[in-house]
Order: sequence, then structure tokens, then C-alpha cells
Amino acid sequence: MSSSPDPKTYYIETWGCQMNDLDTQRLSGQLTLRGFRRASSEHDADLILLNTCSVREKSEQKMFSELGRLRAAKERGARIGVCGCVAQQEGEAILARAPYVDFVMGPGNVGYLDDVLEGRARVAVEFPDDRRYDWIAIDRPSAVRAQVTIIEGCNKNCTFCIVPTTRGREVSRPMRDILAEVAHAISTGRVEIELLGQTVNAYVCPESSADFSDLLSGVARVAGVARLRFMTSHPSEVTPRMVAAMRANANICRYIHLPVQSGSSSVLRRMKRLYNREKFLSIVAMMREEIPTIRFSTDVIVGFPGESDEDFEQTLSLLEEVRFGSIYAFKYSERPGTASLRLGAPVDDELSTARLNRLFELQARIERETLLAYEGCVVPVLYEGPSRHDPSVASGKSEDNWTVNFHCQDVPAVGTLVDVHVIGAKHHSLFGKAVS
Ligand code: SF4
Repeated sequence: MSSSPDPKTYYIETWGCQMNDLDTQRLSGQLTLRGFRRASSEHDADLILLNTCSVREKSEQKMFSELGRLRAAKERGARIGVCGCVAQQEGEAILARAPYVDFVMGPGNVGYLDDVLEGRARVAVEFPDDRRYDWIAIDRPSAVRAQVTIIEGCNKNCTFCIVPTTRGREVSRPMRDILAEVAHAISTGRVEIELLGQTVNAYVCPESSADFSDLLSGVARVAGVARLRFMTSHPSEVTPRMVAAMRANANICRYIHLPVQSGSSSVLRRMKRLYNREKFLSIVAMMREEIPTIRFSTDVIVGFPGESDEDFEQTLSLLEEVRFGSIYAFKYSERPGTASLRLGAPVDDELSTARLNRLFELQARIERETLLAYEGCVVPVLYEGPSRHDPSVASGKSEDNWTVNFHCQDVPAVGTLVDVHVIGAKHHSLFGKAVS
């Protein structure tokens, strides 16, 4: 621990989704502005922030065991703050369980770090109208990509989901503010923009009523945006206008993360997902018709209360039909205060595990076939730097989000688009040789 006059140090532990990652970048940027310096680990930090996730029970338990471990840091005088979704969900209860915690701050208050640092608040879990989104002070880890929040919170009520509780109702940022942030990120050398939100395509500008398709076209037209991505979309908010904006702007990646959650209409009804199996498949078909090269990834929950063998077979057959490039799949996890708690017990844990394994087996086959189909193709890759596994090999991402490792004669500048001739595929990546 540093003793003054050296700058104070901070350490942030982050769990969960891209929104939490970006909140950590915002917190880090604000602390740097206040003269703090990042510590390499919690052991050297004067201030330790836990930026938590509560999407599954396990993530909450992880936070409390981490807090137990940090008691020692408190004894040496460090300050401890709990942020993120568990902070919002638990609030005061965290102080009751761990009184040595200095403050608790929900996701809506990331822009109000001063209040808790200067002791004006110990538990900050309101959702202020003005979210003080200070984008100049975001500490962006990537040299090529900038993540930009366009909407916070969610107005949907999926019965299994705690996000509307922990992140509040939807608040869209003004489009002019988002465009200014994008232009600023480009001016700092970033070439790829990723628009973020829990339901990113529910975006509506509070000033101009411009919708998500208008925003997509607006950001795509900002000079220097080589690639534009967005997540997470809700199937019921996919519109022909949104797809037309994607098709009309070549720098919008032909890739969409579209959580389906289940392939069974009866499970989707009890999840309150606002679409059934047929509707989801028709959205995929419509997008494929308009943008034939588009690739999909998705989220799936197995073991939702009442999920029958037949329901689960429906999920497997939907994966076969859509052939997602990648999936994020989990066993259903009971979350406090969610409506699904009233839908009966989850499916037996052993059976859920067996279903999850079957799902991963199927997806591994689909992914293998999808990757092998790239052999012999030339794909544009956004060069990000040397491969983590082999510094003599270059690495980057394809438009549809595959990691591509490749050999090249001359190492390109970071952020350059390189055409790569694909020679083969590994588990979750492609490899090849630069052709330009
Ligand atoms: S759309 Fe549903 S699953 Fe997604 S954040 Fe909102 S309530 Fe949760």
C-alpha cells in the first residue's frame, strides 16, 4: 500500500457482461482523473472495487466469498466498495453481512463515484435521471475497439431475469451525445465501435425520437468507423428498418447476437419472451434473406421450470435449424424477486446438467462444421496484435467475430483490415495467411 504523497492506487475486479466491463472502464477513467493509479492486484490497492454480476446465483456467491477474502485488506487500511448488479440487488444487506465494506453503489450511479468516495453516500442504489455518462473519461483497454453504451436498463419482463431490477427501466442516451462519443473514440485511434445495451435495439433517442435503425446509420456514417457491432438485441425489437440499415451500411458487421433462450413455444410463453418458436425462426429467415452472409450467436437456458423432454428436443432442433456460430448456454438459476419463482421448481439438477451437455455436444459439431466451411475462403480480419498463444503469429477478428490467427510478411498497423486466406480451423478459431 502506498503512503501519501504517492498517488493512491485502485484495483477493480469485474464479473459479468459487456455492460459491466464498460462500467469498469468508466470507473477506472474517473479514478485516473482523480489522480489514482491502477494497482496490479488487490494486495497493492488503496481502493478495491468489486463490480458484480447477479445474473446467476453462482456469481452472487462468488462476490460474498471474495468479500470474505478481502477482510485482510481492510485491516491494512484499504477501502472496499461493492458495485454492479449485486450491489443494486442487495444494497444495505451487504453492509449488514460485511460491515467492513465502505460503500455500495449500483450500476445507475457509476457516474456519481464522487458521492461514495467523499462519503456523501454509503449506499447509492437509486436510478438518477441524469446518468452522468462522462465518456471522455472512459479508460478503454482496446487500441482498436470502443464500447459505447446507448441504452441502460430494460423494459421487458422475462420471468427468469433480474436485470430490470438491477439495472432499472430503459434510459436511452441522446443520439447527438452517442455520435460525439463515437467521433471522439475514432479520434483516439479506435476503428471498431460496439454499441451496448441490455436490449440495444429498443433504443429511442429522448430528444429526436430517432430509433435504433437511425442510430445504426448515423454511427456507420461517422468517418473512420471501419466496423460497427452491437449487443444485445431482443428478437421482438428486430424490425425490417433495422435490417435495412444493416444491409445499407457495409461497415456494419454481418453478425448479430440474438438470444433465443429456448426452442419451445410453451417455455418461451412462460419466460414471457414476447415471441414463440415460429416467430423467432421467421426473424432469422427474414434477416438471412436480406443479408445472406449474416451469422448468429445466441443465449440458451436449459432446465427452466416445467421444461419437458419434448421442450428440450425443441431447443435442440432449433439449434440444428438455425446453426448458430456460437452459443452461451446455462442451467436455469433462480433469482430473487423474479416471476419464474412462482412457476414451480427448476428441472432436477442432474437432468439439467445432462441436457446442457447434450446441447454443448450438438453445438460443438455445428461449430466445427461452420468453421471448416471457411477453409479456402478469404476473410477480412481486423488486426489487433500478435496472437496470445504465439507472438510470431498475427491475430484479429473476422467480421462475424471469429478469432483469426494468421501469418503475414509485414506486420500491419494495429486496427488495419487484412484479407486472410483461411487454411484451417481450430476449436473456436481460424488460421491462415495474409493475402494483402
Ligand atoms: S430482455 Fe429479458 S433477459 Fe434481456 S435483460 Fe431484459 S428482462 Fe432480462
